[in-house]
Formats: sequence, structure tokens, C-alpha cells
Amino acid sequence: MLSKLPRIPLAHLPTPVDYLPRLSAALGGPRIFIKRDDLTGLAGGGNKARKLELLTAEALEGKYDTLVTLGAPQSNHCRQTAAAAAKTGLNCILILRGSPPAESTGNLLIDHLLGARLVWSRERSREEVMEEVVHKMRASGRHPYPIPLGGSNALGSAAYALALEELLDQMERKPDRILFASSSGGTHAGLAVGAQMSGYRGEVLGISIDEPLEELQKIVSAIACESSRLLGGAHQYAEHEIHACADYLGEGYGVMGPPEREAIEMFARLEGILLDPVYTGRAAAGMIDLIRRGVIREGETILFWHTGGTPALWAYTQELSTKTPGHQAL
Ligand SMILES: *Cc1c(COP(=O)(O)O)cnc(C)c1O
Repeated sequence: MLSKLPRIPLAHLPTPVDYLPRLSAALGGPRIFIKRDDLTGLAGGGNKARKLELLTAEALEGKYDTLVTLGAPQSNHCRQTAAAAAKTGLNCILILRGSPPAESTGNLLIDHLLGARLVWSRERSREEVMEEVVHKMRASGRHPYPIPLGGSNALGSAAYALALEELLDQMERKPDRILFASSSGGTHAGLAVGAQMSGYRGEVLGISIDEPLEELQKIVSAIACESSRLLGGAHQYAEHEIHACADYLGEGYGVMGPPEREAIEMFARLEGILLDPVYTGRAAAGMIDLIRRGVIREGETILFWHTGGTPALWAYTQELSTKTPGHQAL
């Protein structure tokens, strides 16, 4: 499907698919499989590695000299963009929200190690600062390659259409549903396009991390239309065709609460797998709740797509190390 798009190998593919017997037994519902995109490599793993294989290829073909992108201080996307730049000999500028914290930890520490130049947006919006940076660079004869939030444009998203094909090749019995964390929408859009183009009949269900339902459906359907066109498809994705659940937004983006913590502890203690506090912890908490409420039923086979993010655990040591009574029973 994707063969015509230029691609730089940055990720270790295919990532493994594993069955999670102890988690499945503990929840007493469906058979749960996991797709390990936390193991893509590229300085700590995660879903952005796949997108960056296509984005970086376009940057190199177009003779751009600097990858410029934006995100939260603990952005996994920024960390992997810095790694992609390092590996391909490009410069990297990251526009991060707010002001520099007293201590650089988690993803931010890795951004430093990878040699990215950091620009803090302070009181201004990240988009505005990024536009200014890109404009100034062009004016001084440089060739910046701007990458939107999460690498979620048509090209970045196309990587997840290919990823869905990769998954379907790995699983003899196709999962009834695929669940994953959805935020800037590129992963979600790509999986939806991949499902449509490959005739996958299960549900592609994104758990929203920070957007209300209608907003997320709008974002994802727009990217999916463009991404599909890029891949030679013609399907127009309507907003209602995008399956998403926005019931687990908690206290907002990046705020880890009891559900995320429980999900992180369950995956760690039952399967020896680390989730992250911002994305996969929240998506897994949603999945666990949907199983407990019987929305996802016994007898189903489901797949949890691990999208990475584990370096952020080290930016949440305070929240994660305090004892929570009641969870010992696990
Ligand atoms: C970026 C990210 C996501 C969300 O992917 P989008 O394509 O932005 O929706 C999920 N999980 C992790 C760990 C991420 O870093």
C-alpha cells in the first residue's frame, strides 16, 4: 500500500505482538493482546518513530537542514524527532510549552542528550513561536522542515496505515477491536485508513487523551481524508465513522490520577510491561473500565496498541512513588 512513499528506516519493525494471559485472567473478560510500539527504538521507543520514518525522508529529499517541531515539555514526539534528526545528520529545534523547569528529567533530559535546541514558548502559544522561528530561519537562508504537533499530518499519519497492515499480517485471528491512546490524531487517522484500505472489519477505537469526542472525531477524520488521498485511496471519512471514547479525560492532559495509576500497576505487576503516565496509562485505564462495565465482552479478542511514552515515567516519580492503599491486593 505504502511502497511509493519514501521512507528512512528509523524504527525496529515489525514490533512484537504478544498475548497477555495474566492481565486477561485478572479482568475475566476478553483475550487481550498487545502491539509493542513502545519497542520501536529511536531513543526510547514510541509511535512517533513510525511517522518520522516518512517525515524525515521527505525532509532529506527536499534538502531541508533542520527539523522543527513543538510539544509539551515531556513530549515523546519531540524526543523522537530529536533522535531522528541526530541519526540523519539534521539539526533539530523544539518549541516547548511554558518555561524551563528547575530540573530536566524524562523526555526533556533525553532532548538535551540528543543535542536538540530548545525554545520555550513562555506566555505565548507554541504555534505562534514556531511560526516565528521558521520565518526567521528562512529569512537567514536556512531550510527548516516544520512538523506539526505529534507529527500528525497526512504523511506522518500514513505510517499507521502501514502499521495496521503489519499487525494484520502478524495475527492469524484478527482482533475484534483495537484500542489505543489518541491525542493529536495521526495514529488514529492512520489506523482508520489502514482498516478501510485492508478491509479490516473490527473496531478501531481511540481512547481520547485530551479532546472532547466531537473535537477528536473532527481532527481525525480530516487527517484521515488527506492521508487516504496520499495513499491513493478515495474514501471520505465522515466524523461519525471515527470510533472514539472520550470518557477518560480525567483532570486534563498530563494529570495522572488513580485510574492511570491502577492501569500502570496492573500492566507492570501482571505482565512486566511499563505503560506511561500521560497516554498509554490513560488509554489502558479506559480499556480496563470498558471491560469491567461489560462494553467489551468475554469471548472477544482485543488488541491494546502500546504507543510508547515510558521515558515520561521519570518525570512522574512523585506521583508514582507515593503509596496508594487498596492496590496491594493486586
Ligand atoms: C503522541 C502519543 C500518542 C498519541 O498519538 P497521536 O498520533 O498524537 O494521536 C499516544 N501515546 C504516546 C505515548 C504518544 O507519545
